[in-house]
Amino acid sequence: MPGVSGERVVAVLGRGVVPAEAPILLADDLGALRGDGIFETMHVRDGRAWLIDEHLSRMTRSADLMQLTLPPRGALVDLIGQAVEHWSPALEGALRLVCTRGPEGSLGGGIKGGGPEGLGGGNITVFATISGVTEGMIRSRREGVAVLTASLGFTAESRRSAPWLLGGAKTLSYAVNMASQRWAQSLGGDDVLWVSADGFALEAPTSTLVWLDGTALCTVPVEPTGILAGTTARWLLDHADALGWTTAERMIAATDLLTSGGAWFTSSVRGVAAIRMLDGTAMPYSPEVTAKIRELLGYP
Ligand code: PLP
Repeated sequence: MPGVSGERVVAVLGRGVVPAEAPILLADDLGALRGDGIFETMHVRDGRAWLIDEHLSRMTRSADLMQLTLPPRGALVDLIGQAVEHWSPALEGALRLVCTRGPEGSLGGGIKGGGPEGLGGGNITVFATISGVTEGMIRSRREGVAVLTASLGFTAESRRSAPWLLGGAKTLSYAVNMASQRWAQSLGGDDVLWVSADGFALEAPTSTLVWLDGTALCTVPVEPTGILAGTTARWLLDHADALGWTTAERMIAATDLLTSGGAWFTSSVRGVAAIRMLDGTAMPYSPEVTAKIRELLGYP
C-alpha cells in the first residue's frame, strides 16, 4: 500500500489512488502550461485532513474568482478520503488538492458555464497528493525563521480595484512566491515577508502573518489587501481566548513588528514559525509563547 512508510500518495478524481509515478496530466494541461488552476494544502494528522471544510470553502472562492467550475463538494471530500486512507495515521502529512483548467482547447476549457454537465464541467483535472512534512519545516516550527522583507511593488489596497490580480485566490501560479523565497535564501534568510509599496506588512509567500500587540493577537485584514485568507491564522484567532488573548485585524508597518510582542507565520503544514530576525534585526521572541501556539494548533 503506498503511503504507509511516508512515500507519496496520488489520487485522481474518477480513478482513485494510482501509483505515485502514474501519468495524470496531459502535456497541454493549462495547469502545467500557465499555472491556470487552483489548489489547497491541508495538514494530515491522526489519519484525517485537518480543517477540510474551511479549505474546501476557500477553494470554492478561488474557483469563483477564476471562473472555474469545481466538482461537487462530496466528490472532493471522497477524493481526499481515498488519499488519506492510504497514508499511515501515525504520520503527519501534507495533502495537496489540485484543480486545473484541463487540456488546452478542451470542451469548455474548464470555464464556468462553458462545459458539459457532470463532474466539474469542462475537462478540468482534479487530483490529490499526500507527502511527508520536510525536515526544513519541522526545524522552522521548532526554531523559527529569519525573514527578509520584499516589496510587491503595489500599495496595500491596489488589489481591491484589480480583480484580475486574483487577490484572495489560491492559484497554481506560485512562481513569484517561490522566487521570493529563493531570493531570501540567497541572502541567508529563511523566508520572506511581502510588504506593500507603502510599507505595510501583507503576508508571506506561503503563510499568514500574525503578531502580538499586548494581549491582542493581530493579523492583516483580507478584504482591503487581497491577501490569501489563511485557514490556520483564522482558526488560531478564533481560539485565541484559550491563551488569554483578544484578537484584531489591522494594518501594521513592517518596521513596527520590531516593537510588537512577537510575530509568527502560520500555514497549514508548517503550522507556526516564529519570526526570529527581520531584515537582520532580532525580533522579540518567546519560545514558551511559540510552544503554546503550536500546541493549541495541534502540531507536534
Ligand atoms: N498566504 C499564502 C500566500 C499562502 O500560500 C498560504 C498557504 O499556502 C497562506 C497564506 C497560509 O494559509 P493556510 O493557513 O490556509 O495554509
